[in-house]
Amino acid sequence: MMQSREWRLVRRPAGMPVMADFELATTALPVPGDGEILVANRFLSVDPYMRGRMTDRPSYTPPFKLGEAMQGGAIGEVITSRAEGFAPGDLVSSLWGWREAYVAPAETVRRIELLPGIAPQAYLGVLGITGMTAWAGLTRLGAPKAGETLFVSGGAGAVGSSVAQIGKILGLEVIASAGSDKKCDWLRSLGVKAINYKSGNITSQLQAAAPNGIDIYFDNVGGDHLEAALEAARPFARFVECGMIANYNDTAPLPGPSNLIYIVGKQIRMEGFILTRFAALEPEFIATMSGWIANGMIRHEETVVNGIEQTPAAFLGLFSGENLGKMIVALPGPTAA
Ligand code: NDP
Repeated sequence: MMQSREWRLVRRPAGMPVMADFELATTALPVPGDGEILVANRFLSVDPYMRGRMTDRPSYTPPFKLGEAMQGGAIGEVITSRAEGFAPGDLVSSLWGWREAYVAPAETVRRIELLPGIAPQAYLGVLGITGMTAWAGLTRLGAPKAGETLFVSGGAGAVGSSVAQIGKILGLEVIASAGSDKKCDWLRSLGVKAINYKSGNITSQLQAAAPNGIDIYFDNVGGDHLEAALEAARPFARFVECGMIANYNDTAPLPGPSNLIYIVGKQIRMEGFILTRFAALEPEFIATMSGWIANGMIRHEETVVNGIEQTPAAFLGLFSGENLGKMIVALPGPTAA
């Protein structure tokens, strides 16, 4: 018998979540049955979209159920297997996150074949959902052409830092926004023009950085960044609407961008997407991205916090910008009882 601690949502947050919305509970895991595996999680992903699942409203992913363990990306190690094709020590990727360990049917996980020089947690970031979101969004919806100008908001985060670097690889001039001088310095070390949106008006800073305008806006933030991008857009600009983290904790509907009218006169194409649309492209993404990483063309950072206890704080840190690159929770392993 093994025990596992798991985070449950016990109250739906009003605005920014607080610790009292979560509870760390201990549960006894069953012995794996036929076709099942026992997995100890090693790395948990916390992601901005999880905020949407904390609210009870229809969406592309169902709301978390109150009083039950939450879900999220996780990389774990198989401890016991009663499933063909899985052996102790195998690394697996799953959506059984927010917990130390789990017993589940083997078909709910995917085995990871580690590429040389790649750490397991990269499969939650640059070689996982966030890296693929960046690659698919920019290449499939951004329609980039060498020499064009790209603006990406949330530029020092997991998705944004991949977008910025892929943009450079594709021959774009890249401008990225981020919320601190330290993040902007890191972006500059990648060859990107960086704007600290907390140090001045984003619209005027973007106009100064891109006096001839922008051709592509990769939106991770929404709000004032979207208005700034509409202002700076050149005719026929493409807006890749990936996320709007500035609004995820809003409690009342906000007015739309005050300058949305530019979408007409500038003939802007604005398109939202959810990564699952591009699932069939995953093999191409893995081959492309792993090649870029191996050649040193993509650098990736992770901000790692340790211990299951830290998971909600790591999640909340996404909204105050505590992460450079992908926010990850590392777990030391299970406690056998
Ligand atoms: P990040 O690693 O970018 O972390 C979030 C970052 O957002 C923070 O570090 C912070 O950086 C910034 N931020 C937080 N609040 C604000 C605010 N009010 N204004 C401006 N910036 C803010 O997270 P991800 O890379 O995982 O996600 C980035 C975006 O991509 C999110 O909007 C997410 O929902 C979206 N996404 C969409 C997917 C899809 O399929 N469409 C899939 C995955 C992610 P700073 O210090 O710079 O403020």
